[in-house]
Amino acid sequence: MRNPTRSAPGWFAVALVVISATLLPADVAMAVEPQKPLEDPFSDDRLKMVDEQIYARGIEEPHVLDAMRNVPRHLFVPESFRSQAYVDSPQRIGHGQTISQPYIVGLMTSLLRLEGTEKILEIGTGSGYQAAVLSRIGSSVYTIEIREELADQAQGILERLGYDNIHFRVGDGYQGWPEEAPFDAIIVTAAPPDIPERLVEQLKVGGRLVVPVGRYFQDLMVITKTEDGVKKRRVAAVRFVPMVSNPDD
Ligand code: SAH
Repeated sequence: MRNPTRSAPGWFAVALVVISATLLPADVAMAVEPQKPLEDPFSDDRLKMVDEQIYARGIEEPHVLDAMRNVPRHLFVPESFRSQAYVDSPQRIGHGQTISQPYIVGLMTSLLRLEGTEKILEIGTGSGYQAAVLSRIGSSVYTIEIREELADQAQGILERLGYDNIHFRVGDGYQGWPEEAPFDAIIVTAAPPDIPERLVEQLKVGGRLVVPVGRYFQDLMVITKTEDGVKKRRVAAVRFVPMVSNPDD
């Protein structure tokens, strides 16, 4: 036989749970959402890439590591090479160009010493991956690419992913972006034979330029602008595609 004295409090409890669930603040309700997007089959590869290739080699700045854990690198390489996106090497992106090795992206980003409010200029948009990483740290990114097809492709993916603090220009990075200068940080991801003077001019005092310099043998250099002039430091031997003045070179 039904016992009304037991079933009534049961219904009452259910009603209370329903009411309190609808009253939960949004952030508490969100806590039950999965942490990783379900449609990202590479999230484990990406976390492993950051631990083994970046952190284990001495790059410890949390904002650099977080940005690289966050940006879906596989979406910046051609579809047929997606499974290779997290390996420890550069990858082809078409037009004879490459997306840099993850460690080099981490190293160059950490050398900029970003704190989170910077206006950053990048020369060599390429796949758009480095711009995406920078945009997760600085306040805005201005990126210049000399090859129009690459620039269009990168802009397409970055806009689809919602990175809305990146500004694009097709043109010659040797000229910099004078209308937006000065910049807190400048990164060059193709190798000029010498340090481009126009880029040094467009750097703020206290700002840093990170650039691979040389023809076949290249040095990754950090140029710091101070009140008293420019300081140059060589960091490592590297190998980048050449910075050209004409896209057909
Ligand atoms: N940062 C890129 C790496 C790009 S490789 C990424 O994350 O994928 C270097 C890029 O520099 C190439 O796309 C190349 O076309 C471009 N480049 C070469 N010379 C240039 C110049 N003078 N101005 C702007 N881009 C240039």
